[in-house]
Amino acid sequence: MKRDEMEQEMLLKELAKCRSCRFCVDVCPTYQSYGGVESFSSYGRMQIIKHLLNGTLEFDDALTYCLYSCLQCRRCEVVCKSKGQNLDICELIQRGRRLLSARLARGGKHAKL
Ligand code: SF4
Ligand code: SF4
Repeated sequence: MKRDEMEQEMLLKELAKCRSCRFCVDVCPTYQSYGGVESFSSYGRMQIIKHLLNGTLEFDDALTYCLYSCLQCRRCEVVCKSKGQNLDICELIQRGRRLLSARLARGGKHAKL
């Protein structure tokens, strides 16, 4: 298995640990500043990464903006950890960005994931 595929598998496994409780959503500053749009929350970003990797979403500028608007402030992680889930959300978002941007770079401007 290629390194890229292995990383995808490991990342999807980590993302699957999310219980979809959404406790982390309300504390996310970008979720707040976008008037409660879930795509701009911690949970929303993890869902976007998961669906892009699975091929059930197609990459576009709006999704790129959602992923790169995360401030990496870790407020979501504090809540997730306090609720016993313990997900490293910032790291998962960073890994998703790395994996997806590397694929886009390889595929050129009109690449589809
Ligand atoms: S608090 Fe943790 S488990 Fe709950 S939705 Fe957020 S990331 Fe998932
Ligand atoms: S790290 Fe990102 S997703 Fe988490 S609360 Fe901060 S801006 Fe939101």
